[in-house]
Amino acid sequence: MSGTPLAIVGARGRMGRILCSLAGEMGFDVTAAIDEGDDLAGGLANCGAAIDFSAREVSPRVAARMAELGRPLVIGTTGLDDAARAAIGAASKQIPVVFAPNFSVGVNTMFWLVRRAAAALGDGFDIEIVEMHHNQKKDAPSGTAARLAEILCEARGLDPARDVRHGREGLVGARQKNEIGMHAVRGGDVVGDHTVLFATGGERLEITHRASSRETFARGALRAARWALGKKPGLYSMEDVLGLRG
Ligand code: NAD
Repeated sequence: MSGTPLAIVGARGRMGRILCSLAGEMGFDVTAAIDEGDDLAGGLANCGAAIDFSAREVSPRVAARMAELGRPLVIGTTGLDDAARAAIGAASKQIPVVFAPNFSVGVNTMFWLVRRAAAALGDGFDIEIVEMHHNQKKDAPSGTAARLAEILCEARGLDPARDVRHGREGLVGARQKNEIGMHAVRGGDVVGDHTVLFATGGERLEITHRASSRETFARGALRAARWALGKKPGLYSMEDVLGLRG
């Protein structure tokens, strides 16, 4: 029996290759494996759903085309600017879009835990975020670290643009009570590590997630694509797919 026709955008990349190899296990047939130089609009034409793990300038075009076609889309590409996010938001008025900086079950549980930890610990704790990735990663900080910062800012009533401080150098003075420190470490073949530190006088709490295989993201993205089939138009997160909202 054949599965749901699936298009993968960024198919020759690190994530794309794994998505292509695991799609069959999740009930999909990869009918379009699209990469740079291929016909994007034509390739997407006959798919039942698409998964995009490509590059920041590509995702808005994928979203617009999928909106035209009226089929669900999963986006894992990170480092998107405001214009790209707006284009994806516009597409989500017409189709279901699952957009997540991280498709692992563990990281999405970490989002849930961190939101609750920030509320329980209150504003007497300093918060710092540390992420580490392989030496080929193009954007920094990671999309997952940016999402952690957003969640922490929501919980603390802070503004990510004003209160997140990227690294420290020189005579920076004492730490401000309301800042959230953000540190991006790069090296080797690390798939993705994220730690949120909550520190106060006499104690500190660290919540850490370490991904050791990209399969975890690919399986999550395929699960999201299956979940999105038949959903109403809207912008969904992996927390929606996993039922972790609220
Ligand atoms: P990669 O560089 O290995 O792969 C990206 C692929 O996209 C390449 O094959 C490239 O040729 C292709 N591409 C570039 N321009 C294109 C175009 N115009 N049309 C079609 N394809 C095009 O990168 P990767 O490690 O596979 O990661 C891809 C993206 O996914 C990055 O933004 C990364 O941060 C993100 N990512 C997200 C998650 C998650 O869970 N959300 C996990 C891992 C990686």
